[in-house]
Amino acid sequence: MNAAEIISRKRDGFALTSAEIQFMVDGFVDGRVERPQMAAWAMAILLRDMNTDEIVALTQAMLYSGQQFRWSKGRPKVDKHSTGGIGDKISIPLAPLWAACGLDVPMISGRGLGATGGTIDKLESIAGYRTLLSMDEFRQQVQSLGVVIASASAEIAPADKELYALRDVTGTVPAIPLITASILSKKLAEGLDALILDVKWGNGAFMKTTSDAKRLAESLAQVAKAMGVPTTALVTNMNQPLGKLVGNAVEIEESEAILRGTGPADVRELTIRLAAEGLVLTGVSADLANARVLATGKLDSGEAWEKYEAWIRGQGGDRRQLAPRAEESVWLADRSGYLAKIETEQLGYAVIDLGGGRRHQSDTIDHGVGFEIEVRVGDRVEPGQLLARVFSRGGVDPIAERMKTVFVIDDCPPPLETLVWEESTALPFGSDR
Ligand code: URA
Repeated sequence: MNAAEIISRKRDGFALTSAEIQFMVDGFVDGRVERPQMAAWAMAILLRDMNTDEIVALTQAMLYSGQQFRWSKGRPKVDKHSTGGIGDKISIPLAPLWAACGLDVPMISGRGLGATGGTIDKLESIAGYRTLLSMDEFRQQVQSLGVVIASASAEIAPADKELYALRDVTGTVPAIPLITASILSKKLAEGLDALILDVKWGNGAFMKTTSDAKRLAESLAQVAKAMGVPTTALVTNMNQPLGKLVGNAVEIEESEAILRGTGPADVRELTIRLAAEGLVLTGVSADLANARVLATGKLDSGEAWEKYEAWIRGQGGDRRQLAPRAEESVWLADRSGYLAKIETEQLGYAVIDLGGGRRHQSDTIDHGVGFEIEVRVGDRVEPGQLLARVFSRGGVDPIAERMKTVFVIDDCPPPLETLVWEESTALPFGSDR
C-alpha cells in the first residue's frame, strides 16, 4: 500500500478500507508513514470526515497499537470520560463512589488540554500520589481496592500518544473521527463492561454548540457500542464552571466536600447522575431512580469517602498534605445588573496565566493557584460585589485584562439553561434497555 495514495483518496472524499486505515496507523508507529504524511491525512480526515465503519477501524488500529487490560470475571468494570471543562472534577468523587457501590473503576485519565484542567494534574496536588503506575500495579489496585486513576502508561495506545502530539501542532485536534478514536483507544484498553460519556457543550468546552456536542456523543457511543462496550452519553452544560472552585488543589478540596455529602449542588447532581447511569448500564440497579438512591446513600453514609481515602493511600498519596491555596485577592463587580454570561474558556486560560496549567508540554504546574467563583449565571449583582476570589502569586494584576472579559453583566437576566441537555444511549448488546 502507498500512504500518498491513501491520503489522496481521503482528500477526495472516499471512504477508506479497514486495511488502508490499519496501514496508516501501523506505518505511523513503525516509521513507514512519515510525520508530514500523517499530518496531511489527519487534515484530510478533518475536512472530509469518516463514516462509522472507518472510525471503528481507526479506533481498533489505535487500540491494538498497545496493550489492553483483561479481567477475569468479578465486579463489573466501569469508567467515565469527560470531553473536558472548566472546574470539571467529577471523576474524583465519581470513581470512589462507584467503587463504594460495588463496581470496579480502572480509570486512565489525562492532563490539562487547551483551557481545560486535567484529572491527573489535580491529583498531583496531593503529596505522594503516584499517577504513573505499571500495568501490574494498576491491575493490583483495581483488584484490591476497586478504584484506580492513573495516566496512560507507554503500553496503552502508543499510536494515540504520537498522533495526538502531531494533531496538537497541525490544527487537527477538533476532528470528530480523530477525537472519537483518540478517546476510545485509551478507554477501551481498560477492559470495560460499561462506559459513561460526559460530552460538554458551551463556551468552556471544545464543542461550542449542542449540535456539535451531540454529533460527538453519537460518534463516541456508536463506535464504543460497535466495539462491544455498552455506552451511555450525556451532553452537559459548560457555559459556566462546574462548582465554585477552579484550579488544581482547590478542585480536590471541592471533590472531598462532595464525598463528605456537601459541596455545590451542580457538582453533586452531576456526580450522582453519572454514577446512576453507570449503575444501570452495569445492571447493578434496575433503573435510574433506584440507582440514584443507592449513589446518594453511599455519599451521605461516608462509604464513598472511606473508599476515597483508601484509594488515595493505595496510590501513595497523603490527602492531609494537599498543596495550600496561594495568596487570596478578590475580583469585584463594577456595575449592577444580572450576570448574563461567564466566558468560561477565558477563566480556564486565566488559570493557565496564573501557572495552574501549561503553555508548553514541559511546563510545571503551580497546584495552589485558582479561583473560587461566588456567583452563578443569572444572579443579580451590585457594584463592589465579590465575583471571585483569586488564589495567585502576584495578585490580580497579571490577569486583570483577561478577567475584565470573564464576567458579563447586563440589564436583562439571561435565559435559564439546564445542566444535562440531552441523552443518547447506545443499547447494551442483548438487552432491552
Ligand atoms: N481527549 C483525548 O484524549 N483526545 C482527543 O482527541 C480529545 C480529547
